[in-house]
Order: sequence, then C-alpha cells, then structure tokens
Amino acid sequence: MSRIKNLIAEPATTALDWKKTDVGSVFVSNYPPYSFWQDDTSERVMGTLEESGDPETPLGLYLHIPFCRKRCKFCYFRVYTDKNARDIDRYLEALAQEIGRYAPYERFRGRPLDFVYFGGGTPSYISVKHLKNLVARAKAAFPWDQAREVAFECEPGTLSQSKLEAIREIGVTRLSLGVENLNDAILQENGRAHLSKEIHEVVPWVKALDFPEFNVDLISGMVGETWETWFETVERTVEMDADTVTIYQMELPFNTTYSKALLEENGSDVPNVADWETKRAWQDYAIERFLEADYEVSSYNTLTKRDLPTSFVYREALWRGADMIGTGVASISHIGGVHYQNKTGWEDYLGDLEEGRLPFGRGFIPTRGELMIREMILQLKLGNIRPSYFSDKFGVDVLKNYRTTYSSLEDDGMLSIEEDRIQLSRRGMLRVDQLLPRFYDVNYRNSRYT
Ligand code: SF4
Repeated sequence: MSRIKNLIAEPATTALDWKKTDVGSVFVSNYPPYSFWQDDTSERVMGTLEESGDPETPLGLYLHIPFCRKRCKFCYFRVYTDKNARDIDRYLEALAQEIGRYAPYERFRGRPLDFVYFGGGTPSYISVKHLKNLVARAKAAFPWDQAREVAFECEPGTLSQSKLEAIREIGVTRLSLGVENLNDAILQENGRAHLSKEIHEVVPWVKALDFPEFNVDLISGMVGETWETWFETVERTVEMDADTVTIYQMELPFNTTYSKALLEENGSDVPNVADWETKRAWQDYAIERFLEADYEVSSYNTLTKRDLPTSFVYREALWRGADMIGTGVASISHIGGVHYQNKTGWEDYLGDLEEGRLPFGRGFIPTRGELMIREMILQLKLGNIRPSYFSDKFGVDVLKNYRTTYSSLEDDGMLSIEEDRIQLSRRGMLRVDQLLPRFYDVNYRNSRYT
C-alpha cells in the first residue's frame, strides 16, 4: 500500500474540500445553472433562429438517442428502457423531422457543421437500419462532410462487428466506449447492462476499424470500488491502449436509483459511495498510471496518448461559445447566445413535432457578462485559460475582475498565474467542479445542477 500513500500525499484539505458524497450533482456543465431557466423563452428562441448567424462561430449538431438496455443505478439522464420497436420508429422519425425543421432557418445559412455528437442514452442501441436511415435524413438537412468530428457513444453490450462497421461507415471519427469499470461484481452492483467479457470482446473490433479516435470512459468511485479493484480496472484499461481515457468522479444527482434509496434510507439499494477524498485519490492514481503509460493530461478528466493529434472538438468548441443545435427529447441547444432545452416528456416532445412545431421547453437568455463567466468556468475545466482570450472577445480583464478569487485559489495551491495563462494544478483539476461556483454571480451560488 506504500504506492497508495505516495499518491494521496496532497496538501492538507481546506475548507474547499467536501468529504461525504451527498445527493445532488456538483458537475458543472453550463452557466447559469439550469434551475434558473424559465418556461417563457420560446419566442426569443424563434427570433434568434430567424436572425442571421455568425459564419465564424462553429456550428454543431447533437442527436439524443434516449434508449438503454438497462438503467444504471447512478443515471439521471432522460433514458427509456421499456420502448418497443414501434416506439423507437416513432422517436427516430420525430428526431429526423426535428433536424429537418432547423435547416431552413436564416441562422444556419452558409454554415457547415463543424461537429456532430450522438449521445444518450445509448446511440449504439439502435439497429444499423435505423442508424443509416437517421444519418441519411440528418445529412440531407445538414451535410457533415466538412465536420472536424463526428462523435458516437457506445455501450459495449450493444455492439457487434457489423454494427461497428456501420458506425465507421457513417463517418464517425470519435468512438467513445462506456466501460466505466472492469470488475463484474461492480458493474452488476451499479446496474450496468454489460460485463467485462463484452468489453474485452469489442475492443479488438474497434481497433481493427481504426477509428481516428477511440475513447474509453471510466468512473472513479462506483459502488463497491476498492483500491484493489481500481488498480485492476486501470491496468486493464492501460492494456486497451485507447487514444484517450476520460475519468469521471461518481456523483449522486437527484432522481437516480441510488439517490432515492439514500434519501429514503431504506431498501437494499442504499449505496455506500466513497467520499470525495477517496474518489480524488483514485483518479489521481489513474492519472499517474496513464502518464507512466505515455499519456498526457489534456483536461481535468481526460488523458490523451502523447503526440497523438487528438482534440475533443465537441467539448472544446462548445466551451468556447460554439452554437449547437440539440435535437431529441430533453436536449439542450446553445444558439446565438441563447440557451434552451427541448421538452422533457416523451409525449410532449413527440406531440410537438408530430403537430409541426419545434419542441421548445425551458430556456435562458444570458447577459454578455454571464456568457463570459460561462466560457471562463468551462474553459478552466480544460486545465488552463488565457486572459487575453477574454479581453479580446469580451473586453474583460478576468484577472482584475476576479482578483480575490484567483489569488485565494492560488494560495490554496489550486492554480498558478503565469504570463497570459492561468494554469490549474493537479490539486485544482481533481476538484475543479467544486471550485467553479466561486466565480458565480452571488444569485446563482449554492445551487446544484441536478
Ligand atoms: S448507459 Fe449511460 S445513459 Fe444509459 S442508463 Fe447507464 S448511465 Fe444512463
């Protein structure tokens, strides 16, 4: 265990460190937080679509495939495990129509897609026939031949060699495999639909197809994790030789099976989730091990094979203010500085499209200052920011405006301030989501995202 001791020899914890993993997500994916979004923004969204767009702003398309074989006990996404073939046909028809409805708007004229993201849920759940049909319809509305990235999320147990070939054929450049852990007891306990056998089966197929980028997702702190199981998962993942590895820290957003059991404090599903310090120590160990195996840190939670020309365009563009059309139930769009979400109910979403309307739900019209904060906090998750980017784009000196916050984070060893560069330390990266609310407007502090 001396190996462990060395790795968790961080400076003493500060008031910034949370101990217990409570119910409520700390993961920062947008700003201002969703709990401040409102239901009456549809007209404003429509107005934004009808205005012309900035050809210099990258444009992306997100397609939400909300089906999974089984619901993971830590999952809070809008997913369905009970839909039959007719339901899936109906959903995919609505999704294709939704994409088609966006195409004529002035906002998108003359703007080829820069990135495409198939997320979920489980995009790899749908059949090859469904996938090819969806892609043909989507491309007829928004061709993606010039896109820098087409990303696709997969659950190992839904893949076959022929399905992977079809995924490659539609132009996917970044295939992401939701491995999460390689211990069967942990996968089962946490309600994952796949076991390690399926992971080991599909990895050689993925590699044989030579996707430009192959990413593996892991979660540090799944229920049942110990140092021994984590060592094993990290070792087996190193052997997979993926191009990038993304490591999330386990959270307990509201509405997950685990969170409900915890809040009710009954039933056999009350989870024993590792505390934040342990989850950080596990992530820290994994980072060290991947660095040894010739990876380098490319964001707070991503490691990339050294010298590989990879970049996660979806994330990097979105966090620098790209426009993205989010299609599918509950999907989120960012267009012309306006944020909005599609209706979150199955019938509400489908009904709107079947009656010829875009399915707008809640939204938020941020001020320019809020857009600046959004970009600053999201880019900090990449590991560093350049103050000159913010003075050029927003006319704001972030070091001056947030002097006290940056100084105290520097004093706590979370970051260093160099010439035109604010660089998060490892210590800062391991707890970045917990640090970012310090930059929020006072009205938005103390809100959890989900
Ligand atoms: S596979 Fe992903 S989206 Fe599906 S239930 Fe599990 S965590 Fe949720």
